[in-house]
Amino acid sequence: MISFVGAGPGDLDLITVKGRKLMEEADLVIYAGSLVSQGHLKFCREDSTAMNSASMTLEEVVHAMEEAFKNGEKVVRLHTGDPTIYGAIREQIRELERRGIPYQVIPGVSSFTAACAAINREFTLPGVSQTVILTRMEGRTPVPEREALENLARHQSSMAIFLSVKEIDKVVGKLAKGYGRWDVPVAVVYKASWEDQRILLGTLEDIGEKVRNEKIEKTAQILVGDFIGEQFHRSLLYDPGFSHMYRSEKG
Ligand code: SAH
Repeated sequence: MISFVGAGPGDLDLITVKGRKLMEEADLVIYAGSLVSQGHLKFCREDSTAMNSASMTLEEVVHAMEEAFKNGEKVVRLHTGDPTIYGAIREQIRELERRGIPYQVIPGVSSFTAACAAINREFTLPGVSQTVILTRMEGRTPVPEREALENLARHQSSMAIFLSVKEIDKVVGKLAKGYGRWDVPVAVVYKASWEDQRILLGTLEDIGEKVRNEKIEKTAQILVGDFIGEQFHRSLLYDPGFSHMYRSEKG
């Protein structure tokens, strides 16, 4: 069995209990070494094997999984954050299915929720936004034109932008175009939940300069939207004048 496991954003304790158990039982761990903390490997058995996929191709990864499976071994494919977001797991799954190799996907804490937790905010605020957009700017991987940042920004929904901090000025320009204003709050969270985590707060107007001054070029989330600000309505869920299945009216 091959288990695609979300390692969480950085902090070793932010892997799921299920993920940690699979790590403890694994014969082979193939980890995404560019972002996954090596610290996770200390929970593996001493006789297990670890491979860093950073220097491997898809073919090499699949070959290693196939050999291990043939030997009756348990494999953990350890991805950063949650494996279903920019994890490149689908191409691996296709190869496993072609070969009839069984697999499972174990979710993880994504860096976008870890980043929002780091700034003590909530993406979905009544009266502000009830939608979260997870996206990226195009890099070597293209983004469909209909998903261009300026188009998404028009919704004024809460946004978490992955893989894009290196081009912060371009990101900010596109967002301002979509929003039609520059006073939109932005938080850049570098290495959320790691010991060297850094948080920069600003608006579309000044965040570019702050990011450049701090020389943040990778491993950062760009969180955008009025959810970072101070204005919102309280929720009906916990309103005394609002009854629901689990609570009668108290108001
Ligand atoms: N599957 C991962 C995302 C992988 S793509 C997840 O769910 O988080 C890699 C991008 O994720 C990075 O460019 C960065 O934008 C973001 N990222 C990963 N770890 C991060 C962290 N600890 N803090 C902030 N951003 C992070």
